[in-house]
Amino acid sequence: MGRIQLSQVTKKFGDVEVIPPLDLTIEDGEFTVFVGPSGCGKSTLLRLIAGLEDMTSGTIAIDGADATALPPSKRGLAMVFQSYALYPHMSVAKNIAFPLRMAKMDQAEIDRRVANAAEVLNLNDYIDRRPGQLSGGQRQRVAIGRAIVREPAAFLFDEPLSNLDAALRVGMRLEISELHKRLETTMVYVTHDQVEAMTMADKIVVLRAGHIEQVGSPLELYRSPRNLFVAGFIGSPK
Ligand code: ADP
Ligand code: MG
Repeated sequence: MGRIQLSQVTKKFGDVEVIPPLDLTIEDGEFTVFVGPSGCGKSTLLRLIAGLEDMTSGTIAIDGADATALPPSKRGLAMVFQSYALYPHMSVAKNIAFPLRMAKMDQAEIDRRVANAAEVLNLNDYIDRRPGQLSGGQRQRVAIGRAIVREPAAFLFDEPLSNLDAALRVGMRLEISELHKRLETTMVYVTHDQVEAMTMADKIVVLRAGHIEQVGSPLELYRSPRNLFVAGFIGSPK
């Protein structure tokens, strides 16, 4: 499960309407990428979905249930923060287990989930290390591990690779795509990088000044961009 429906969602900061009324459905299991220039509202939209930011108006439903008034912890979604959000004094295992310990989960179940995440992410050899002893890519995997153990209905990524160097970004892009294939869980991924959008997405949502310019598969957007903005952003020849 992991279907997310936004209906007539708006967001104002003070008097400034950053998101004008917006409707969007993210299908269960889909890898959806929000792409658009800096300041167009990608992070705000993701934070509205996560519940980290209150909507000014509109509703959100997750798997058919109204989630508009639910706090982040009750939405069943997991936001993947950049790797620097790890606790430096805790081991990899403790970092991954952290959200489950906060939720007071049974220790045997915590151990099972951490072992599973370490396996899926190839972190078994590093499980007792501290974040400072890991490479950037390994740290990013730990950050993803912290989301996996929660077994969320959807993963929400906000430019997770922007701090990594170019070579590492390519590798992590593939790893996240592999993870999506393996888990078959909804992923919503924010980036301003067209290459990431085109190579990772099932569906791309092109945003401009808080509104949706076009939604479609990478091929649809490449072949039939609705306007010059989309064409320019996607890099199609139109
Ligand atoms: P993006 O992630 O696409 O770069 P953001 O969602 O961060 O864009 O920002 C969209 C717009 O909302 C920008 O104009 C930004 O300045 C504004 N904004 C974001 N967060 C806040 C905030 N907490 N208070 C006021 N304005 C904000
Ligand atoms: Mg942003």
